[in-house]
This record gives sequence, C-alpha cells and structure tokens, in this order.
Amino acid sequence: MSPKLKILPLNDWIDTNGLPLIISGPCSAESEYQLLKTARQLAETNKLHVFRAGIWKPRSRPNDFEGVGEQGLIWLKKVKEETGLLTTVEVADAKHVELALKHDVDILWIGARTVVNPFSVQAIAETLAGVDIPVMIKNPVNPDIKLWLGAIERMNAIGINKLIAIHRGFHYFEKSPFRNAPMWEIPIELKRIAPRLPIIVDPSHICGKQNLIESISQKALDLEMDGLMIESHFDPDNALTDAAQQITPKYLQKMLERLVIRHKRGDLDFQHKLEELRTEVDKLDGELMQILSKRMELIDEIGEYKRENDITILQMKRWAGIIADRMSIGTHMGLDKVFLKKLLTLIHKESIQRQEDIFRKK
Ligand code: PEP
Ligand code: MN
Repeated sequence: MSPKLKILPLNDWIDTNGLPLIISGPCSAESEYQLLKTARQLAETNKLHVFRAGIWKPRSRPNDFEGVGEQGLIWLKKVKEETGLLTTVEVADAKHVELALKHDVDILWIGARTVVNPFSVQAIAETLAGVDIPVMIKNPVNPDIKLWLGAIERMNAIGINKLIAIHRGFHYFEKSPFRNAPMWEIPIELKRIAPRLPIIVDPSHICGKQNLIESISQKALDLEMDGLMIESHFDPDNALTDAAQQITPKYLQKMLERLVIRHKRGDLDFQHKLEELRTEVDKLDGELMQILSKRMELIDEIGEYKRENDITILQMKRWAGIIADRMSIGTHMGLDKVFLKKLLTLIHKESIQRQEDIFRKK
C-alpha cells in the first residue's frame, strides 16, 4: 500500500496557531436554542476552531431520533455568523452534500457507517467533483485500514486535497471499557503510510462515556495526532443522542487546559510496535475477564446444586486437588509459584464467598 495522495498541509487552510485542531459541538443539532446556546458557550472558551453538529443521524433503529435535517443547516449558518466559528456536518449521500454546500457549511465529514461502503463514498466523491471544500473521513466501524485509506483516496482522486482522517475507534469484542476500541496501531500505521495526511482523534466515540475522554485525548496528543473532535452539549444529560459521552463546554475548556501538548517527534515504527503489543494485551485482559466471569457463573451453579442436595460448601479434598493440579499446569507454563498460589487462593476465596451468599439467600 503506497498511496499517491496530494494533501495540502492543515495549516495552509486552517489557522490553529501551531496548536492541535479542536472541533466540538453536539452529537446532533436538536433545536435552534440548543445549537446556539452550545455554540455560544463553546466560542467563549476561545479554544475552538470548528463547530460540529450532526444534522442527519445514522441510527440503528428507525424510530430513534434521526436528526433535524435541512433546518439544522439554517441554525448552523447562524452559529457561523454569530461566533465566527467554521462549521462541519456529517454527509452520507449526494443529497446531504448538495444541501450542505447550499447552506455554506465549511467542512464536510463522512461517518464511520458510510465509510464501510465504497459505493456511498464514491457517490459523495462524484458530487464533490470540482468543489473546493475540506473533507474529514472517519475510520470505518470495522478495523480495516484499506477501507479507510480507500475512502481517502476516492476523495483525493476527484480533487479534494484538504483532507483529514478522523480516528473514532473500532467495533471490537464485547467486554471493553470503550464503546469503540482505540487500536492505536491502525491510525499509527495510517500515519506511517500517508505521513502528510492530518489525523485527528474523536475521543467521544472511542470512549462512549465522559470519564475516559481526557485520558484518550492526552493519549492522542502524546501520539502526535493533529487534533481532537469532541462532542459537547450545554445540557449533556438531556441530549437526544449520545448523552453519556457528551461534555459541557466548560468541562471541555478545563480539560483542554489540563492537556499537555508535547512537541517531541517520536519514532513511528517504535510506537506502532508498542501499540500492537498493547492491543494484544488489552484483548487478552478482556478474555481473562470473560473466563473469570464464566468460572464464577459455574461456581454459582455448583453452589445452587450443593444447597439443593445439602452438601457443605468447602470440600477440602477437592480444593487440595485443585491447588496441586493448577500449580503444576501453571508452573509448567512459566508462571511464578508464589504468584500462582496467591492467584488461586484469591479465586478460591471469591468462589467460597459467592457460594456462601447463595446459601444465605435461601
Ligand atoms: C458522530 O460523530 O456523531 C457519529 C455519528 O460518529 P461515527 O460516524 O463515528 O459513529
Ligand atoms: Mn455521536
């Protein structure tokens, strides 16, 4: 994969004063009041370059809130006139593109669900032929760098050279603290193969909840990403979409003030390898949790069975057998004896506790 991309440097078309590009605004435009109130509060922070809002929302089920449509673009224009902020919306088809252009939206973005479909990306690209507008391209929902790069190449091929890739995480195995696993090695690989392409990070969709956003934002800056797109709302609790992950403009301001911007140029190959290994560790930890939780479910089942049959919880002979057996397996696999003993004792203690709870409940 060696794409021949013609990319204009970010600072040639947007002035961030050498700082990371900051984009914020609500997941969805809900009303003129909500949009303007959020935008005013964001503008007051003096930290923002671009205001975002979803006008057409890709939702899993048909009766969920699907966005306000074209009227949102009229409100967005008011935001621009009042605050001076650039504006950006998600477009998923040719009609969206035409309407966004008609209402002077400054930057378009293509969402994760659209990037998975090359037909859709191509249709958007064809509508943009001859138009000079920046386009941001989110990674596809699934961890496929070719699809992501392919969408960027399609845009570039019709002449869009103001391009930004947005890393918003990937759908992964079930149990993870993240809504979308970051898999940092993928954006790092994109950076390696397309070094001139700016990449910003969307911690909101990676995290899915407020409390992880700061650490993911710091991580993005530590990996020399070019900016952040973070969802914000003047009243996150009552947001119509993605309520758990939106933050207030004030919170955003405080958080941005705490973030450390490092200027050191890192070694991409080193970072890539490190992130690959860390992703593997994350995956194994997830599996470890699943195995432990499955083991405890079985322990509960045994507890019920013992109770029904009037058998005591602790059976010393069985436990001594378990210890000897697991110690032998574990030490053969290279695990430390003392560590193993501690781990097995801890698991056993928890198992006894759970069965005692079952006996007590009845
Ligand atoms: C969004 O930014 O509101 C959105 C829908 O994100 P994604 O396409 O990353 O799911
Ligand atoms: Mn959202």
